[in-house]
Amino acid sequence: MTIKSRSYALIFFLVLFAAAEFNAQTDMRANASSGAGWQWPASSDGITYIPVCWENPAGWETESGWVRTAVLDTWQRAAKVNFYNWGACTAASKGIRILITDTRSNSGVGRGMDGRRNGMELNFTFKNFSPVCQASNKRRSCITSIAVHEFGHALGLMHEQDRADSTCKSESAKSGGWLLTAYDPYSVMNYCNPRWNNDGQLSELDVKGIQVLYGARAAVPLGRFYVTDVLNTEAGQKWEHIAMEFGSGGSRQHFVLDSSKKQQSNSWTFKAAGRYCYKIWSNTLYTDGVYRDGYGEGCYTLEAGRSYSLAIAFRKSTAGRAFDIVLQAAK
Ligand SMILES: [Zn+2]
Repeated sequence: MTIKSRSYALIFFLVLFAAAEFNAQTDMRANASSGAGWQWPASSDGITYIPVCWENPAGWETESGWVRTAVLDTWQRAAKVNFYNWGACTAASKGIRILITDTRSNSGVGRGMDGRRNGMELNFTFKNFSPVCQASNKRRSCITSIAVHEFGHALGLMHEQDRADSTCKSESAKSGGWLLTAYDPYSVMNYCNPRWNNDGQLSELDVKGIQVLYGARAAVPLGRFYVTDVLNTEAGQKWEHIAMEFGSGGSRQHFVLDSSKKQQSNSWTFKAAGRYCYKIWSNTLYTDGVYRDGYGEGCYTLEAGRSYSLAIAFRKSTAGRAFDIVLQAAK
């Protein structure tokens, strides 16, 4: 794509968004000027719990999963806000109710949208709006970066470019509101950011701002899951190839061992405490010249920020394969 056509695409996006959220913007001013009541209340443990549900989730499990992960990795990771439920809405559902529809994505603002039917609308198909996002290499980033922006509104944030002290020239509407930080040209809430929705990543000041509103979440270090495979030459193993998947993303890594490399470790990182599952496939050449296959799967309940070290081991198969594979504590 040439630079020229790329900038056209960008302008196209920005114009669509500007038009898209005029109504939301009007709501925001009302909420901001009316003061109390727009912020979701914190629970006695200091965390603000906000239920989220989907009005029409059927068939959109993958995309709704992308949205959930993006929101958890941004706003929920920075501030003491827990979005929960994420199931299908019922008539009585409270909190943020999301309709999946081919329209300009938009959202209500803050607590005013609590329990409001179709309170947020997210576009997963882009047939009529932002059709550039239909491209297979753009769809996920479009869906997630828009969702991060709309969840910013849902938490009560307004458009950064509309601040009185904005240096953004292409937007003229100015609005009042509570200034949480210095003006931020890199905000996910700023249409003048040359990176659209800041590529779905919170800027430094986005993080500061949301922490002013809802409190900073204590940083939890990444957890690590180490797995080691050792070539068992005493048992006649000459060569071994193992593939292992870990976690819901299914990220796959390989162990390739032979006489020149008899041990290999791989590690997977995880962010949150929870139950993580793995699958392992092996193909091993023995000194008798026969390849034997193995398979194993299982789950672990892991604590946030901790490291685990495990080793791959073979057991007599119960399922017609040469081996069952298990993980055991590393020596
Ligand atoms: Zn917006």
